[in-house]
Amino acid sequence: MALSIVECLIASTISVSRPLRICHECDLVSVIPPLDYSQSARCPRCDHELMARKRAPAQHALALAVAATVALVTALAFPFISFSARGIERAISLTDAIAILSSGSYTLLAIVLWLVLVLIPLLFLAQMIWIHAALLLDHQPPKARLMLRALRHFEHWMMGDVFLIGVLVSLVKIMSLATIGFGVSFWAFCLFVVLMLLLTRSIDSDWLWERIAAEPPPPAHVVAGDSGRAQKVAGCPVCGTLNDYRHHSPCPCHCRRCGEKLHLRRRFSLQHTMALVLLSILLYIPAMVLPIMTVSSLDETTTQTIMGGILLLLDHGDFPIAAIIFIASVVVPIAKLLALGWLCLKVRRPQPWRPEVRTRLYRITEFIGRWSMIDVFVVALLAALVRLGSLMSVSAEPGIIAFGAVVVITMIAAMSFDPRLIWDAVDSNPGTDSGADTSTSSSPAAAGQPQETGP
Ligand SMILES: [Zn+2]
Ligand SMILES: [Zn+2]
Repeated sequence: MALSIVECLIASTISVSRPLRICHECDLVSVIPPLDYSQSARCPRCDHELMARKRAPAQHALALAVAATVALVTALAFPFISFSARGIERAISLTDAIAILSSGSYTLLAIVLWLVLVLIPLLFLAQMIWIHAALLLDHQPPKARLMLRALRHFEHWMMGDVFLIGVLVSLVKIMSLATIGFGVSFWAFCLFVVLMLLLTRSIDSDWLWERIAAEPPPPAHVVAGDSGRAQKVAGCPVCGTLNDYRHHSPCPCHCRRCGEKLHLRRRFSLQHTMALVLLSILLYIPAMVLPIMTVSSLDETTTQTIMGGILLLLDHGDFPIAAIIFIASVVVPIAKLLALGWLCLKVRRPQPWRPEVRTRLYRITEFIGRWSMIDVFVVALLAALVRLGSLMSVSAEPGIIAFGAVVVITMIAAMSFDPRLIWDAVDSNPGTDSGADTSTSSSPAAAGQPQETGP
């Protein structure tokens, strides 16, 4: 339930006693009101979450991180899935699947699986346990700043949830050809995915940073209700601290609290994003034209492209799975490339069209990109699992490497786009209709007062 705004005091008079935050998506400086447990403060202009308080953050995060680690280790140690056809049975663990792929000609696929399913989640969990356990014991964990900065970057590249959907799609594809059995590891992996979702929602980043290093006061000249760029102040996306940028422009500065490299605007953001979008478009052609896998059996050998696989699923009547693959492999990549290209081309318009809608579009683009990896995981799993010699086997083909590259490059393209550019034209033309409610001086957006939400 959304609560009303607690107070609407003049921002500049209260900024000395309450933390200031700069929105990472629209660059508005806001004063954070006192927050109770489970409440969050959102940007009044673009609705981006500025701060969220959690109840007993260390205890919850530590318990979930330990449980997720146990679940992941269990998922790696035992058989994950079994597959039997015409009297031959085969069971593999996740580590077997990665080893099989790396011993064949699919080393790149094996490296991707190893990184997004094992190495990055394990590093993330180890750091979470280390930091939270140390803080609960009243110790300052060594290298805590470096680890907290790394945690933020790891979150984008953990794909257990996407892999799980890929596993279910793989099973539907081969269910008519063989009998499938789930091992202990499959259920442990399902538990791991749920625990990771809970864990990432339980992290209280501001509480963590407050315990690691007290927040330095904001530069004296900063007031709420104006953009950070106009006041030459850079907000840290990792720890939230405001940093004086007046003596650094145009060079980057480093956050005085966590050491993160900061820019008032990411340099050459549009150029980098457009270059990556163009590269993705070029790679998307072979990804759609070349076969992604070959299925060999006693009767026949067929190669499948992405669209061929979808049509085959439709032929078999698997409409929901065909829809999932079509959305993940065709609709999402194309929509993402179009959205990023459109955002880059329109960002410098002097009369911006509804910046809050464009910010929402960017947010969706950034969120959905990783789900396109479903097809990559489907092919990787089938190529590792279905190996019954001349009876039946599945092998990956170059199209899937091109498609995986498209997914990764579009993810990097979305990360390299600086959404604050969308709002620059609004800030330089204050009379422009931005679609946000900034018409009255007592409105929260005008005063830089964030909206407060809670249960
Ligand atoms: Zn904002
Ligand atoms: Zn920082």
